[in-house]
Amino acid sequence: MAGVVVVGAGHAAGALAVALRDGGYADPIALIGDEPHPPYERPPLSKGLLRGTDAFEGALVRPREWYSEAGVALHLGRRAVAVDPAGGTVQLDGGDRLDFTNLVFATGLTPLRLGIPGAGLPGIHVLRTWADCQAIAAAAAPGGRVVVVGAGLVGLEVAATLRVGGSTVTVLEAAPRPLARVLPALVADHVAGLHRARGVDLRCDASVAAFVGDGRLRSVVLTSGQALPADLAIVAIGSAPNDRLARAAGLEVRDGIVVDAGCRASLPSIHAIGDVARHRSARFDREWRLESWHNAQEQAATCARTILGVAQPRAKVPTFWTDQYDTTVQFAGLTNATTEAELQGDPATGAFSVLCRLGGELVGVVGVNRPKDVRQARIAIEAGSSPSQNSHDRKQP
Ligand code: FAD
Repeated sequence: MAGVVVVGAGHAAGALAVALRDGGYADPIALIGDEPHPPYERPPLSKGLLRGTDAFEGALVRPREWYSEAGVALHLGRRAVAVDPAGGTVQLDGGDRLDFTNLVFATGLTPLRLGIPGAGLPGIHVLRTWADCQAIAAAAAPGGRVVVVGAGLVGLEVAATLRVGGSTVTVLEAAPRPLARVLPALVADHVAGLHRARGVDLRCDASVAAFVGDGRLRSVVLTSGQALPADLAIVAIGSAPNDRLARAAGLEVRDGIVVDAGCRASLPSIHAIGDVARHRSARFDREWRLESWHNAQEQAATCARTILGVAQPRAKVPTFWTDQYDTTVQFAGLTNATTEAELQGDPATGAFSVLCRLGGELVGVVGVNRPKDVRQARIAIEAGSSPSQNSHDRKQP
């Protein structure tokens, strides 16, 4: 009996194995992962693990022994290099093959790097894996000068963590404001203010022309010509989906592996979940890839139900969060700068929320230290209604 083979052994893959066994799936399950670790969750990489306050074991989806007890084979430190959909086999880098009845791509993303002079110098990092996190933590010293390139969620979380750890931090963002892809302007400005209040030099409209060094990084040169002395640089300018193997196998790929609402890809018995999966939103008229913990968890559960032949519940509105300093920003639905933002509460108190509308319809919510507002609005967005205008006046948990 061939069973389920998962390419990738990250968060979504681990959650899928758990959901399959919880759902009563009794055939073999195998995960192929090119990292040496069992599936782990990545959010702590820019927070507690980078700070050194969390233990790596706490980030594991399940303890290592769960996999042997549950009959889930882990092929770790191995890459899947070819898939034969018609023959039902996956080839590993050592040449051996695994047979499958269902194949799941859970291959995640690869961080983008800058194609500029000096980009290969020691001292320049990206952050996607536990190995990346350990390398950054080892290189960051109190008083060290860090330049973070990119003021997205990962870049700003790293900036906050290293700043609290005593580094001198500059953040460079090419756009006019941080987080414009994901958050309304007034929340983005609030987050920028958190960084500036703690002494982070956050510069917008700032692009990098070159990294300069003599065997290791010494400075980051802007397109304006200014050189910023630097001991360490983190490039956090986004990521690309790991969809090459799927494309080579003949699957429909469009900046991610195209799947339906049940996570089925374009060939029979092949599926994709997590950051690499592109799907059409059930609630909004758009196709997207969602790079979030919540989506990895949800799509793992959806894919397990598809394989088990179980009916799917109504799809949830996508939810995200970020922790920076003592602030947690949660957001759900469509929340970017193109929506009409309606403020609830006073940003000066450090706790407020924003309802996001398109053509008057509630499509998203952002809560800054306001979890209850997000929960209420999310339910309303899922139901297609509007929450009470005064929901922010109620007591928060
Ligand atoms: P991954 O967990 O990346 O797993 C994919 C795995 O597949 C990787 O190990 C990869 O190396 C492996 N792989 C790829 N190709 C092959 C191959 N051919 N053969 C074998 N293995 C292969 N989300 C939030 O909602 N909130 C947060 O606060 C948050 N913080 C984050 C902070 C950081 C630093 C990062 C990097 C991500 C964060 N995320 C956060 C996003 C969240 O972690 C991801 O959405 C989630 O990890 C996606 O899971 P995945 O299984 O799709 O991909």
